[in-house]
Amino acid sequence: MNRLPRSTDVFVIGGGPAGLAAAIAARQRGFAVTVADCSIPPIDKACGEGVMPDGVVAARSLGIELEGAGAQPFRGIRFCDRSAGIPTHVEAAFPKGQGLGLRRTALHQIMVEHAAEAGVNLAWGARITGIGEEGVVADGRTVRTRWIVGADGSHSAVRRWAGLDACERDSRRFGFRRHYGVAPWSEFMEIHWGEACQLYITPVGPREICVALISRNPHLRLDDVLPQFPEVSQRLAGSGASLTGTPERGAVSASRRLKAVCRGNVALVGDASGSVDAITGEGLCLLFQHAVALGGALEDGELGLYQAEHRRIGRRPEFMADLMLFLDHRGRLRRRALRAMASRPHLFAGMLAMHVGELSRFDFFRNSLSFGWRLVTL
Ligand SMILES: Cc1cc2nc3c(=O)[nH]c(=O)nc-3n(C[C@H](O)[C@H](O)[C@H](O)COP(=O)(O)OP(=O)(O)OC[C@H]3O[C@@H](n4cnc5c(N)ncnc54)[C@H](O)[C@@H]3O)c2cc1C
Repeated sequence: MNRLPRSTDVFVIGGGPAGLAAAIAARQRGFAVTVADCSIPPIDKACGEGVMPDGVVAARSLGIELEGAGAQPFRGIRFCDRSAGIPTHVEAAFPKGQGLGLRRTALHQIMVEHAAEAGVNLAWGARITGIGEEGVVADGRTVRTRWIVGADGSHSAVRRWAGLDACERDSRRFGFRRHYGVAPWSEFMEIHWGEACQLYITPVGPREICVALISRNPHLRLDDVLPQFPEVSQRLAGSGASLTGTPERGAVSASRRLKAVCRGNVALVGDASGSVDAITGEGLCLLFQHAVALGGALEDGELGLYQAEHRRIGRRPEFMADLMLFLDHRGRLRRRALRAMASRPHLFAGMLAMHVGELSRFDFFRNSLSFGWRLVTL
């Protein structure tokens, strides 16, 4: 399992989706690549388990085909809010393509197989304890390497070792997920807005859904908030839904932008390189895009290119995260906005198109000038 070489071109620390994607991208450019992770696959993680259409496309650009690999399609997003007693629903289909829901363990398995086929050397159960000029310290010995990629997640030690911890922004929420054995009741990924929390419901199989809770309160759990969402509770109880054997799993959802994502021969990808709030469902899309950009920069031998591209890639999801978190704090305004969009569904469709990169911010706001007025007058 643990196949640490004496030397390699690219050493990737962390074998989650970001590490595997970066390894595949580097391998495709002819580098000898080793990925090391302290865990053993398939690796699980608390996640909403939805891949947006732009993420499906980004995965495909690395040769990773998620469609047809057991993933459950969803054709758009539905917002539901009954926090003031009046139920409001608004939904829209994606302008192009479809989203896919799949269990994290299934995604990891697919990516491990792709990496192995691409010729990536995989060292599972290997803990990395430091990096230096010579290379990477893995299981107590140094592996010499030209490039080091930090893909060790939100609490990245590589980020600290490389002196890249300085942030331009950093805030946190907390997420917990569970799986229920019930057939998805909707063709949409649903976001249910409650008092200072959201529930995300993603179809992940023909008879399975993933329910994720996100809030600012680290002590809040699904059982505490379900009474706020009677529609969801009834479906989970009424249809005989059962927990499908996965424990409730939690993770920090960080909104973090780093001042820099590379230094010397070290580059960060995925959550190690900063992240957007989980409410966007864009974490996986971002890391696939990071991998493609990093592959190109490694080929050119110029990590500065990756730094610029990383900043560009993050702009749209950061903007969408800000917009949605603005609504998290402001229940009355959110309910007004949802009611306004329910009566003019093309606005929600436009917002979703902007979210998945099919409509520019400029075009969205130009088409929605009357929306602000409607918000004021509703
Ligand atoms: C509650 C929640 C819901 C989310 N929902 C969605 C969603 O629906 N859609 C979406 O696209 N994104 C979602 N995200 C974001 C997404 O989960 C992350 O962006 C993604 O998991 C990041 O992957 P990663 O590979 O960067 O990090 P991770 O998945 O955290 O992987 C890091 C890996 O590094 C390894 N590692 C760490 N330290 C070391 C070490 N010293 N030595 C060796 N190995 C090490 C770990 O074992 C781990 O395997 C959600 C996030 C949260 C918190």
